[in-house]
Amino acid sequence: MVQLIDGKALAKEVRAEVKTRADAFRATHNRSPGLHVVLVGDDPASQVYVRNKERAAAKAGIEGRVHRLPAETSEADLLALVFELNGDDHIDGILVQLPLPDHLHDQSIVDAIDPAKDVDGLHPFNSGLLVVGRKGLRPCTPSGCMRMLEHVGCDPKGKRALVLGRSTLVGKPIALMLLEKHATVTIAHSRTEDLAERVRESDIVIAAVGRANLVQGDWIKDGAVVIDVGINRLDDGTLTGDVDFDGAKDRAAYITPVPGGVGPMTIAMLLSNTVDAAEARIM
Ligand code: NAD
Repeated sequence: MVQLIDGKALAKEVRAEVKTRADAFRATHNRSPGLHVVLVGDDPASQVYVRNKERAAAKAGIEGRVHRLPAETSEADLLALVFELNGDDHIDGILVQLPLPDHLHDQSIVDAIDPAKDVDGLHPFNSGLLVVGRKGLRPCTPSGCMRMLEHVGCDPKGKRALVLGRSTLVGKPIALMLLEKHATVTIAHSRTEDLAERVRESDIVIAAVGRANLVQGDWIKDGAVVIDVGINRLDDGTLTGDVDFDGAKDRAAYITPVPGGVGPMTIAMLLSNTVDAAEARIM
């Protein structure tokens, strides 16, 4: 019988842990951990994400602030703000909401963030630490997926894990995290042949593509753990993942729903990274 991995409930648990740590930090250092989010332009989805981060930070005892800049902000002005935040000792985490408007280069801006404050874990220095297996700030969504595996007692050691998608944001870092936990990892991408075969042989499937029902239910190996990162909006407005949930749930041991799976974990891990950054900076 399949079990759902309830991302909302687990995220609540993570946020409670963060609050305890944030309160202890404040008691010792007379200030709360500080998270500054930079939002450029008026993309509606980004506005919702940023508002959710702001609210979640406040509830977790983190001093959150959002810098809302007009869409036509120049690269020089945005860089000047990032450097100012880098230099402010009371700020532990800096997050620039991506994607930026077209005239700005996402990577150049991320490269300007102090790696010690890079709570999105996307700075190449932090990516490098992950590659060599050292401690550092790690991307939030992959960290959330790993926490979900841990929560259901799934030890990746020796297991065959398949990651669908090879983005810098999700696919590549989650593959490295699974490798670090001694899984035998395969990364599938847009040019992969025999995707069905790769899924059939996998004990752990992490789907991060962005195509509704790409993974068919009858491809899933009996007893597999399925983490669906994909978020796809169907014509009727409903959200769905990359995995055919109804088919997969007859075979999987554990599966994440969409919505209510990985999504809530991402913000919780961002808050956790902020407290990690605050603690590491004052050591
Ligand atoms: P992306 O577009 O950057 O990457 C998609 C990847 O899928 C690419 O590497 C591509 O090679 C691969 N791909 C395309 N077709 C494929 C196929 N047929 N088989 C296997 N791989 C294929 O996307 P992303 O930023 O990595 O996000 C992936 C999905 O995860 C999206 O739906 C996104 O909305 C979602 N997402 C969710 C969260 C969350 O918090 N739940 C966070 C980030 C991303």
